[in-house]
Amino acid sequence: MSEILNTLSQSSLQDYYDCPRRFELRYLQRLAYPAIETEPALENEKHQKEGEYFHRLVQQHLIGIPAEQINKLANTENLQRWWENYLQASDLRGLRDLSGLYPEVTLSAPLGKFRLVAKYDLIAIGKKDQVTIYDWKTYRKRPKNDLLHIRWQTRVYRSLLVQAGAHFNHGKPFAPEQIEMVYWFADFPADPARFIYKADQYKRDWDALTKIADEIITASTFPKTDEVSKCSYCPYRSYCNRGIRAGDAADAELETEAEELFDINFEQIGEIAF
Ligand code: SF4
Repeated sequence: MSEILNTLSQSSLQDYYDCPRRFELRYLQRLAYPAIETEPALENEKHQKEGEYFHRLVQQHLIGIPAEQINKLANTENLQRWWENYLQASDLRGLRDLSGLYPEVTLSAPLGKFRLVAKYDLIAIGKKDQVTIYDWKTYRKRPKNDLLHIRWQTRVYRSLLVQAGAHFNHGKPFAPEQIEMVYWFADFPADPARFIYKADQYKRDWDALTKIADEIITASTFPKTDEVSKCSYCPYRSYCNRGIRAGDAADAELETEAEELFDINFEQIGEIAF
């Protein structure tokens, strides 16, 4: 297994958790998507591309390029609205005045026989060394906080920052209590989801991550999920006899979002020594 796969990410962990078979097809067999994941396909692809582009606009702004210069790049209806919302958002006001802004950072740390890797939209160090992880979301529907709280992304991003973020904190690992994670929704700018962190949550998260990594490394079979509802948005339906018709994308943006980590240049990753 470790020759085939040596990194885990929030996406691959979420896939394993949702359906071991999907994890096997996507990350071990590396099968290209054989079916349209969601409907309507073209519109969703455009929305996804605009979402990626929006991330680039924000990154440019955070590294100091004036908004006036970026304005003209927000050249679709969605991009214009998201960009305007970003510039007006009271929760994000003052962000650029912080001295410690790290957009588009990748961190990694050992996890069992794997490396756990995560790409952060923004790590922002505020006053009194409080640190906020920002994640920009362009979902059409605002997911419930309860659901976001238990997603692997929320657990991985906060715990990995404790594990691998010492170089942002004068060489000392962050205490969980210094960390907060914010999902900021470009279409719901006044309603971000905020998750603070505590030592007991960190311990629970890291124990759970270690356990799931051990389970993956020793797994000999990768069964299909019993929750057939998960299959409506899954690109591998045709491999599993779980239907042909795709579900509506707007209902499953959280579930179908996947980051691509295969291409990460490991030279550029900040990490703890091991
Ligand atoms: S179609 Fe269903 S069973 Fe098959 S990989 Fe996807 S989620 Fe798993």
